[in-house]
Amino acid sequence: MTMTRRVQAKKENSNTEFAVITYGFLGLFIAMCLYFAYFITFGAEDFINNPYNARVSQFSENVIRGDILSSDGEVLATTQVSSDGSESRVYPYGRVFAHAVGYNSNGKAGVELDGNFNMLRSHSFALTRLINDFTDTKDQGDSVVTTLDAGMQQAAYNAFGNYRGAVVAIEPSTGRILTLMSKPDFEPVSIASNWEALNSDSDSSVLLNRATQGLYPPGSTFKILTALEYLNEGGKKSDTFDCQGTYTENGFTIHCYGNTAHGQEDLTQAFAKSCNVAFSQAGLSLDLNKYHNLAENMLFNRDIPTKLSNVKKSSFDLKKGDDPVLVMQTAIGQGNTLVTPLHMAMIAAAIDNDGIVMEPYIIDKVVNDNGDLVRPNFGDTYGAIVSTEDAKKLRKLMRAVVTDGTGSALLSENYKAYGKTGSAEYTSDKNATHSWFVGFAKKEDREVAVAIIMEGAGSGSSHAVPVARAMFDNYFSE
Ligand SMILES: [Zn+2]
Repeated sequence: MTMTRRVQAKKENSNTEFAVITYGFLGLFIAMCLYFAYFITFGAEDFINNPYNARVSQFSENVIRGDILSSDGEVLATTQVSSDGSESRVYPYGRVFAHAVGYNSNGKAGVELDGNFNMLRSHSFALTRLINDFTDTKDQGDSVVTTLDAGMQQAAYNAFGNYRGAVVAIEPSTGRILTLMSKPDFEPVSIASNWEALNSDSDSSVLLNRATQGLYPPGSTFKILTALEYLNEGGKKSDTFDCQGTYTENGFTIHCYGNTAHGQEDLTQAFAKSCNVAFSQAGLSLDLNKYHNLAENMLFNRDIPTKLSNVKKSSFDLKKGDDPVLVMQTAIGQGNTLVTPLHMAMIAAAIDNDGIVMEPYIIDKVVNDNGDLVRPNFGDTYGAIVSTEDAKKLRKLMRAVVTDGTGSALLSENYKAYGKTGSAEYTSDKNATHSWFVGFAKKEDREVAVAIIMEGAGSGSSHAVPVARAMFDNYFSE
């Protein structure tokens, strides 16, 4: 009896083993099939699109590189074919879109890089392609339609003048990049002939896309984070500060811009007028570990979620036990903190969008030479970087900047603007500052978030705010 039971138990055991192995292999097989199907559907194109894949460059032997278009159909890049068959890439808007559209000689950058594969494939009418095959004629490559708004980009470009710096505009609810500008810029058509000069000019680094790769001190735009942390730790908007224009702690003196004494003020007024004295004091009261977490939740020290290539990470390194002088500096956006304009635009967009970040993207869709859709593109949701409640608190503070503070030049009958100015010191000379504006504006269901930095231009309200004004006026006049 015992014997039989033992045999039976053994048999059951091996049956179970057999089942585990069978199901294991079956599971593996299904997983492989699924991966294969996924790769065929989505992965293969990305794999082929890899700039290191030599196959792609061979496509240009059979296909005329397609166009790059703005969202409203303006041609930003096209290939001209002369009678002898030689091809040249031309850029009708020249410098205006230089960094956004990029270049396709001496390497690739911008949309010329990100959309490379799509423009070297052709989904022309099948019969046309068949005839081309017989007559040894090249097919017309597909066009990449970007999210860029030609009107607003041009408005930003004109208002910016000859400063160095960058402008980014994003549609908050989708992540569509409407403006992407960096100066100094270059003439894309002559990039090959100017290549050596452009690369040897390390002083102005013309080829650097400052919008996505420029790391700047955030200046007072960082008070957005300081204010939020202060409120989250039990601070009130009605808390009062007394500003005499300067504040000294541990032998270090913080100055308000132009040493202006702001007098008695509450947190909202201090934010609206960008009072450094109030914010360095608020900073000293913070739990630095919590402040650090807040910064990291808002994407500091993180990879920026976007499909754009070559985007730099922002950095924030303040932590518990750091010198109070560094705490005060960090709270007003000086210290060691560095941000990209793209990141600041994403923060503004998230505040407008109830805390949710949509991943910024610039390729809207791919169409064939007849304008028929080949491949759509959609923004991905990254998730919340601040809560809905916090986004609402910040909108109130940022609205006060426009109604009662340094952004008053953005008051308009046509739209409602919100923001934060900044004058970021970058040398020991207190009068040399980068001019910042970070904010958004809305009218009915249209909205746009922007980040603007002008290197060495002066205060945020004197230079970056007028650029924002030009952009908002253009965007909401359409
Ligand atoms: Zn002050």
